[in-house]
Amino acid sequence: MAIRVVVVKRPEREISYLRAALKGMAMTFRHLLQKKFTMQYPEQRSTDDWSLSPRWRGTHRMLTDEQGRAKCVACGLCPQICPANCIKLVPGEDEVGHRYPLIYEIDEFRCVFCGYCQEVCPEEAIHVGVHYENAEYERERFVYDLERLCAQTHPVSTLWDPSDPKGE
Ligand code: SF4
Ligand code: SF4
Repeated sequence: MAIRVVVVKRPEREISYLRAALKGMAMTFRHLLQKKFTMQYPEQRSTDDWSLSPRWRGTHRMLTDEQGRAKCVACGLCPQICPANCIKLVPGEDEVGHRYPLIYEIDEFRCVFCGYCQEVCPEEAIHVGVHYENAEYERERFVYDLERLCAQTHPVSTLWDPSDPKGE
């Protein structure tokens, strides 16, 4: 496609900006009369018109079984697929051959919240969550260990469903 160059000439004589100023003021007044969308965060986190999408991909959460143990079976798929290389897994195995994570950590600071770990997990153990309030004062605090991941209680993401692209 050819690139078109438009040369804008500066006015050669003095002109009045009154018209442009009035136009700007009219727009401001028009907005004054419209419905306000300001939310009083953090007291208010959703309104009748807006709430965080159930497909939001935020802070991770590890689901647990009835005994409170992490559902992860240390298969190694999530660290394998993670594009940010931010999942650390050290697998272990008990005396009857059940695999479990000896170490499972996610660096939320490096994570790009793609949701691949959730999609690939055969046990539906690791999830991205509908949660975003994970600010910290120290970098190290962004590395969530297994205990912290299991302690998260926020809802998990429903991710994008190709059969329902608009989430209806
Ligand atoms: S959401 Fe993506 S980047 Fe973040 S831990 Fe999972 S796979 Fe890695
Ligand atoms: S994909 Fe699931 S089961 Fe496999 S290591 Fe990751 S969290 Fe554990």
